[in-house]
Amino acid sequence: GQVIDTAFLRRWFIAAASVIEREADRLTELDSPIGDADHGANMRRGFIAARTAVEKEPPDTPGGVLVLVGRQLISTVGGASGPLYGTLLRKAGKALGDARQVAPEQLAQALREGVDGVAQLGGAAQGDKTMLDALAPAVEALTFALDKGAGLAEALSAAAIAADEGALATVPMQARKGRASYLGERSIGHQDPGAASSALLVGALAGAAR
Ligand code: ADP
Ligand code: MG
Ligand code: MG
Repeated sequence: GQVIDTAFLRRWFIAAASVIEREADRLTELDSPIGDADHGANMRRGFIAARTAVEKEPPDTPGGVLVLVGRQLISTVGGASGPLYGTLLRKAGKALGDARQVAPEQLAQALREGVDGVAQLGGAAQGDKTMLDALAPAVEALTFALDKGAGLAEALSAAAIAADEGALATVPMQARKGRASYLGERSIGHQDPGAASSALLVGALAGAAR
């Protein structure tokens, strides 16, 4: 079957850095009515650092790339999203161990462990209007598509669609975690910025397979 190698993971994060850079203003705009208007700047800083690290000291395993990017996000993002995305990627990277190539199903399982780590660290569940509302459906869709026999590109496209839909589905939700939760009912009617950035990251992952 198909294999995922280090180059694939590097393509993901280089594409992710580009899309975050392009969409940073929109992410910050989403963070203004229900947050502190820094999500785009936070993510841009984190992904510039991540891209630099991946290019300067390229790890030689897929798991190594995930751990390196996760570490960079934790040390440079400087918002709630930093440790959460950092945990997602470090947990996923550790789950892959030091294999040089992994199967799509292994990546799906590793990402699932990463998403579980986000839920554990942040104490949020689906429906709380956070990044989990995009990430969890994406992992579900990926796993489901691979189970049905879809190829990697097709399964990741399904994951990207699920993440986009999950991000849009946060609009009518009331936030129960993070800064937006301080607004109570006034958080309703706005898309969660972290869910929006998660959808961009899953979209970049799908792009790496095409
Ligand atoms: P900050 O809120 O510290 O300014 P950011 O603006 O970078 O950090 O990130 C905000 C995003 O982080 C939110 O939109 C939400 O998706 C996510 N987030 C915040 N708290 C949690 C949590 N407890 N669990 C999951 N995601 C969270
Ligand atoms: Mg913010
Ligand atoms: Mg902040």
